[in-house]
Amino acid sequence: ATVMIDVDLFKHINDSFGHSIGDEMLVELAKRLRSQVGDQDVLSRIGGDEFVALISGIDNSEDATVAIHQLRQVFEQPFIVSTGDHLRLTASMGVSLYPSDGADADTLLRNADAAMYRAKNDGRNNYAFYTESLTQQSFEHLKLQSALYGAIEQNALYLMYQPKLDLVSRKTVGFEALLRWHDPQLGLISPAVFIPVAEKIGLIHEIGLWVLETACRQGMRWLSEGKHFGRIAVNVAGQQLQRSSFVDDVKRVLAETGLPAKHLELEVTESVMMQNPDLAIRDLKLLGDLGIELSVDDFGTGYSSLNYLKKLPIHKLKIDQSFVRDIPFDTNNTAIAKAVIALGHALKLDIIAEGVETKEQADFLQQNQCDQAQGYLFSRPQLPEDLDAFLS
Ligand code: C2E
Ligand code: CA
Ligand code: CA
Ligand code: CA
Repeated sequence: ATVMIDVDLFKHINDSFGHSIGDEMLVELAKRLRSQVGDQDVLSRIGGDEFVALISGIDNSEDATVAIHQLRQVFEQPFIVSTGDHLRLTASMGVSLYPSDGADADTLLRNADAAMYRAKNDGRNNYAFYTESLTQQSFEHLKLQSALYGAIEQNALYLMYQPKLDLVSRKTVGFEALLRWHDPQLGLISPAVFIPVAEKIGLIHEIGLWVLETACRQGMRWLSEGKHFGRIAVNVAGQQLQRSSFVDDVKRVLAETGLPAKHLELEVTESVMMQNPDLAIRDLKLLGDLGIELSVDDFGTGYSSLNYLKKLPIHKLKIDQSFVRDIPFDTNNTAIAKAVIALGHALKLDIIAEGVETKEQADFLQQNQCDQAQGYLFSRPQLPEDLDAFLS
């Protein structure tokens, strides 16, 4: 069996903050993994934090599962580094079997790698076996990756803007900038698909900056035309917020474009804030002090600690569209939406609902004191030149 292993630092609230996987840990890990494989087997580190184990005599998934579980044992004990900290690693493993998944080393490695990415996508600390459909998937993925590298230069990215309305006055309070990628060969690709790819290959910083700049420039254009648009909201990906230069990047873009901070809003997902709450609190405070409005995106889908939520310097909660679906008919969602509104107001936050598609939803949300809404009922995301009806 060929087992591809990618390790990551276990991240938990207040845990591992400021650490990365050092060589010290990787050497210790290699030693531990070595002790779990036989003398005839091969274990090697293939760059960064990836390892490959070639385990002989295993050609079926039952035996391979046993071997995997043995390898996984080495992650149960923490690593004690020279600073005295106890750190944990998680592992994503992908397995390919000889001869069913490939007759040569190259194929087996490639297939184990595809399985490993599958395991990683299914959540850290997982393992997966290679299947034929993974080849097609990883092929698509590769095509996407290489096309994305050229997307900015080729002018293949653009922004659509979706109005956000006050539920009582039904007037525009702002717009959310939503990124679009139209590749000449691959066609229109959803941000839900390519943003994670951009994060994986490290392109998210460049793309994120492009979005911020483009949105701020659009705001300036509207200002110069005397059009009132409230705030432009820009989505911030996890890795952007994690980067130490993020606050300075935002300041620089505001200075360069000239957009006053009171016209900018940043949407950060709940799970990103909770991944590293101390860092989030620090940076969001700096951004909030500039006059930028801060919203918690996809609220309710993550694992917010209410204790942290209370400490985060935020202004607005965005009820995720999965909870807006079928209200007021779906009793669970209706209860959740009401609870989020009550929670948010108790914390003196504004509440916006996304994905509002029907009049029933809007009326219900309004009756229950939800402050703002956004969704196809009012408008789909549109190009800036088509939004005059929402500008005053
Ligand atoms: P999100 O931030 O939760 O954005 C809301 C998504 O719901 C958008 O999908 C929007 O077009 C869609 N939507 C709006 N109203 C309705 C409605 O009434 N019904 C339904 N069914 N959908 C509605 P979109 O534009 O495909 O974006 C998907 C996700 O991609 C976004 O989810 C966001 O996480 C990410 N994304 C988009 N643009 C950017 C960006 O510039 N940067 C980053 N980091 N992520 C982005
Ligand atoms: Ca890794
Ligand atoms: Ca958003
Ligand atoms: Ca959402």
